Amino acid sequence: MFKRFLLLILLLSVCSPAFALEFTSAEVEYIKNNPEVRLCVDPDWVPFERINEEGKHEGIAADLLALISSRTGIKFVLVPTKDWDESLALSKSGGCDALSFLNSTPQREEWLIFTEPHFTDSNVFITREEHSFIADPADLPDETIVFPKGTAMEELIRRDYPNLKIIITDSEIGAFNMVSDRKADMTMRSLIVAAYTIKKQGLFNLKISGRLPGYKNYLRMGVAKDKPLLAGILNKGIATISNTEREEIINRHVSINVHTPANYKLLLKIFAVAAVLFLIFIRSNLKLRELNKRLEKVSQTDMLTGLYNRTMIDSGYYSEFERSRRYRRPFSVIMFDVDHFKQVNDKLGHLEGDRVLTEIAAALRRTLRSSDIAGRWGGEEFLVLCPETAAEDAVRLGERIKSSVACLETKDSRQITVSLGVAQAEEQDTPDSLLFRADKALYQAKNTGRNKVCRI
Ligand code: GH3
Ligand code: MG
Ligand code: MG
Repeated sequence: MFKRFLLLILLLSVCSPAFALEFTSAEVEYIKNNPEVRLCVDPDWVPFERINEEGKHEGIAADLLALISSRTGIKFVLVPTKDWDESLALSKSGGCDALSFLNSTPQREEWLIFTEPHFTDSNVFITREEHSFIADPADLPDETIVFPKGTAMEELIRRDYPNLKIIITDSEIGAFNMVSDRKADMTMRSLIVAAYTIKKQGLFNLKISGRLPGYKNYLRMGVAKDKPLLAGILNKGIATISNTEREEIINRHVSINVHTPANYKLLLKIFAVAAVLFLIFIRSNLKLRELNKRLEKVSQTDMLTGLYNRTMIDSGYYSEFERSRRYRRPFSVIMFDVDHFKQVNDKLGHLEGDRVLTEIAAALRRTLRSSDIAGRWGGEEFLVLCPETAAEDAVRLGERIKSSVACLETKDSRQITVSLGVAQAEEQDTPDSLLFRADKALYQAKNTGRNKVCRI
């Protein structure tokens, strides 16, 4: 009884009243004995974070950490570093207990435990204006891409697109400047950092030329591997941050500060010129954005069915496979093929064949859940990616696809059917072996009567 009372007192002393977090007694003990956490940050990653002239941590990450600190009672003590590389090295050698704001990567998992994400942001390709839209970076044989030192995106691009030549620069702004000054063809950076830097630095010859599904920043805290209790405590703090609080923090940092000069006549002139330039910029930007959007859609879509084309479904497949592997989450695929489709073409003509494929795609879209991703794999074959789905549920979804297609008819009233193969990613699977098993299951469905779902 007394122990419980003591625990309550401790809880009240470490939590703000609005967030009475439920800590275990081991966590309460940990906070009591280790109230201060030595923190390493990226000193140059505005607007996410930086170390300012007074040596203080500021930016989006600093504000998020202030919330976590006020709700957990943990105090972050900044360990100053000159660059991100030094922060990574210090955290590796035990010179700090936690990193504030970073992506988890397999390499970093060797010495860090990652908390849940406290911030999510897309990564985008940034090129000069004249560059065409980037649908698949594998199609760019001789292009150069610049990254600031030690980024997670460099690690991913190096692994996924060995055709791109990687250049490393010292700073975040350096990467944007090198693209603007034609010293590199592109960079890949966070959408928020790009919006902030392009505006702030006036780099108006740059544009956003594409993004890859799966290349998102899930920004988390990284905690030294020998401090799992600390990771658990921080996770409880992170869980209290609401989306409204996140939006407020973004708005606070992604805006430009205007200094007021004393000369008002000059100010008026500058303002007039700036307003005209701004209007021109907005107009051309809107046009560009619309054009980019259209280009993006065309390059990702199969023209006949409106589903993702082979390039996109391929790229989605590899990133979902990778994600399921990294986070040890279930992932299944459904591969299906139209039965006796050649007969439709032969008897009723190619146009009727096309109409049938369009109807199948529409039936598929009506049947899928919002998290499923479907694409045309080739001819009359389709692939459905089912993230967070075990084989049993994928089979159920396959049955629903089968039934909704079976309601369709050709113009001479013949029933249209499909055969489906389901496979779930297993420990020993590679991306190729999983597809091979789905294909094998599909052929089993074909060979045992068609219009059915088989699973391997
Ligand atoms: P099975 O049940 O064994 O799959 O028999 P099938 O007749 O469907 O298989 P097969 O692979 O022999 O025929 C597939 C046909 O699909 C051949 C090809 O002409 C046709 N096809 C592929 N793409 C298109 C397309 O975009 N439009 C039309 N109309 N036909 C297509
Ligand atoms: Mg077929
Ligand atoms: Mg086929």
